[in-house]
Amino acid sequence: ITSTEQEVLDEIEEKDVDFLRLQFTDILGTVKNVSVPARQAEKAFTDGIYFDGSSIEGFVRIQESDMRLVPDPDTFAVLPWRNSEESASARMICDVYNTSTGEPFEGDPRYVLKQALERASDLGYTVNAAPEPEFFLFEEDEEGRATTDTNDAGGYFDLAPKDLASDVRRDIIYGLEDMGFEIEASHHEVAEGQHEINFEYEDALSTADNVATFRTVVRAIAAEHDLHATFMPKPIPKINGSGMHTHLSLFTEDGENAFHDGDDEFDLSEEAHAFTAGILEHAPAITAISNPTVNSYKRLVPGYEAPVYIAWSDRNRSALIRKPAARIPAASRIEARFPDPSCNPYLALAALIHAGLEGIEKGLECPDPVRENIYDFDEDKREEYGIETLPTNLGEAVDALEEDEIIYNALGDHIAQKFVEAKSQEFQEYLVDVSQWELDRYLETF
Ligand code: GLU
Ligand code: MG
Ligand code: MG
Repeated sequence: ITSTEQEVLDEIEEKDVDFLRLQFTDILGTVKNVSVPARQAEKAFTDGIYFDGSSIEGFVRIQESDMRLVPDPDTFAVLPWRNSEESASARMICDVYNTSTGEPFEGDPRYVLKQALERASDLGYTVNAAPEPEFFLFEEDEEGRATTDTNDAGGYFDLAPKDLASDVRRDIIYGLEDMGFEIEASHHEVAEGQHEINFEYEDALSTADNVATFRTVVRAIAAEHDLHATFMPKPIPKINGSGMHTHLSLFTEDGENAFHDGDDEFDLSEEAHAFTAGILEHAPAITAISNPTVNSYKRLVPGYEAPVYIAWSDRNRSALIRKPAARIPAASRIEARFPDPSCNPYLALAALIHAGLEGIEKGLECPDPVRENIYDFDEDKREEYGIETLPTNLGEAVDALEEDEIIYNALGDHIAQKFVEAKSQEFQEYLVDVSQWELDRYLETF
């Protein structure tokens, strides 16, 4: 038992925790739980907890279904809702091990991210990340099912009393802070019913853990207010969708921001430029992972502050990567604007990091920033600037992933195969469906 593990055991005692939720995510990013009585915590640290992996999306074949969960004591957090007056539950995020080999399980997305971080560390870097998940709050109907009716009519940075949802948002933030989140800011987004909560930056692994937890907490607290929180990227056509901009920077082992260079026009170092170039080069394949649903591509269209074109900018929001203004050297960073909150945060960060490091290792040249609004460019102008377009649907994105060895390998064979299989099937199902739009358009015309 390590000292951190002992601290967890003490806290369990102190806070009357009677149940532990051991969490991990499947390939699609859904949080899975195995609940054990808190008195098993010590055993969980020393031996792990065995579970049947065959029922988890993309995990294992039936005949080799035994998996072992080993909780990471750094992720211990008491859940903000109590079971009763006397007792509470806590969660810990786990690493998954293969019981037959004793090795980390290659189908564990957290392991995939850890490997990306190892690659960074081999080059002398740690990776910091800060996500900006956006989401909608919708009313529930009489049966408690989600609708797409918003419960407020606020706009960007609107204040009460228009922003009726600020109560809910406040409860969400208190809940998250209780769990140890550092919330940097929260505000009403551009669209009706849309909100954003920004996290303070942390190392990329903690950030991925946080995003996984965040979605569960937001949904649970919204439900207490009889609202449905959704991270679906584009629930309502013709207004802004929900993104999850991801800020990234590399730090050196002695805590310096390797992305900062005060002599550069953009305050960005050579590493930052090369990292950006790597993401731009691999963007189509990354998109399959960072924008993994059919609906994701309804957000990536011109006109709604979401990127469509593969370019970077130091000012405008139509670019794929933006360089936000930084007040201090430690804050020099890039903002990847294409990910959306339906992604698996472990895999999306792993893909972005591998692409960026590839840029650094190969010394890729970063193109010039584009300062005009790219939405306004016609094809000729895009050609003149050499600007390519993101995949326009999930099928194209999955094709790009299969063709991009770097990103495909970043996932590891196991996850890459299962991911491509699941997403191809999802896209096929979509293609053969007949939508409401088609009925409205054609049913009475023909
Ligand atoms: N909601 C926009 C998106 O889909 C982003 C708005 C913003 O800049 O925060 O990415
Ligand atoms: Mg936003
Ligand atoms: Mg942003």
